[in-house]
Amino acid sequence: MYMDNSATTPVNPEVLKEMEPFYKEEFGNASTLYSLGRESKKALNLARERVANLINAEPEEIKFTSGGTESDNWAIKGIAFQKRNKGKHIITSVIEHPAVKNTCKWLEKLGYEITYLPIQENGIINIEDLKKAIRDDTILISIMHANNEIGTIQPITEIGKIAKENNIIFHVDAVQSVGKIPLDVKKSNIDLLSISSHKIYGPKGIGALYIKKGVRPEVLIHGGGQENNQRSGTENIPGIAGFGKACQIANDNLEENTRKLTKIRNKIIKGVLSQVDEAYLNGDPEKRLPNNVNFRFSAIEGESLVLMLDAKGIEASTGSACSSQSLEPSYVLTSLGLEPVNVHGSLRLSLGVENTLEDADKVINDIINVVNTLRSMSPLWNSKNGKSDLSIAGDEEYGLSK
Ligand SMILES: *Cc1c(COP(=O)(O)O)cnc(C)c1O
Repeated sequence: MYMDNSATTPVNPEVLKEMEPFYKEEFGNASTLYSLGRESKKALNLARERVANLINAEPEEIKFTSGGTESDNWAIKGIAFQKRNKGKHIITSVIEHPAVKNTCKWLEKLGYEITYLPIQENGIINIEDLKKAIRDDTILISIMHANNEIGTIQPITEIGKIAKENNIIFHVDAVQSVGKIPLDVKKSNIDLLSISSHKIYGPKGIGALYIKKGVRPEVLIHGGGQENNQRSGTENIPGIAGFGKACQIANDNLEENTRKLTKIRNKIIKGVLSQVDEAYLNGDPEKRLPNNVNFRFSAIEGESLVLMLDAKGIEASTGSACSSQSLEPSYVLTSLGLEPVNVHGSLRLSLGVENTLEDADKVINDIINVVNTLRSMSPLWNSKNGKSDLSIAGDEEYGLSK
């Protein structure tokens, strides 16, 4: 039972079928004039249309990249370089994906000033903080749509309105939200938006940056002039065709998947919080992705939890895949105001379209069993007579406790 779809997703068989001809007979370079190349060019245009449709953009506003990381780098560095004479101040948040966070950190070394907006206890930024952070030399606001660890959804339409009023470019990392919740770049006044294929049942190593007409981030990849001279390199036609198909499938099934996943998600949350002592939900109970569950358990090591669930056939993660290699507590979870000791007892389940309500029953049961087993071996838990004092004051107030 795979429940780590925020780390990556399996390729949909229909997507694979769409890609196959471009590895075989249709291998032409899209820049050539003969018919083989024309087929590739056609595939490129079709995919551009499909990606654009998913976010209500124009096909010409979609530029293909190697994935979410490159799109984030291009958007942020591209605007930083292009607008350097206007100002060197950028606003972002403390819970951005490393692709945004570390790009901003690097720009600090070049003399840019970055404001990292804090998040509230529910994982969402405070709009008033954003308004206060804006200065005359602010050139860019980069805020993610949905967080990869706790699934919280930021108010991007409100942010877009503020960015527009202040004449500031607005970039959104939508890698986790696109194809899962409705997204409209026009309605939300978004100038730049990052998408990745492998988080929506497409192949790895392909993604896109939406660049609103008239917005001109500096070019980072120079060469033969592909992507309208904005991102050089021979196009990854199989990847692009597959990515386009994945977008079309996501678009066609958006409502149905949202409804289904929300039901499974809520069942798991309710089942665990009502049956496990000192279990809490990280992030906002409502403003979260339909496929994201993130618990924390007192007196539990997340790594042990993940390994024991794996033994029961459930694949989940402690934090994001990008940070769970290290034993450092997740910066997203510590940004919620949690103590490192509590952060370590966190578990992320990110559901996929394959999951069912029966899966929810199994995962609830397995979590109950594994938590009980681990606690029965925990001196910390037992010394409290089955009561741990690690719960956090204030949880009740936010309605996050069971
Ligand atoms: C996965 C992810 C990325 C990186 O995308 P890649 O295509 O893997 O480079 C960026 N931002 C968020 C929020 C992500 O979840």
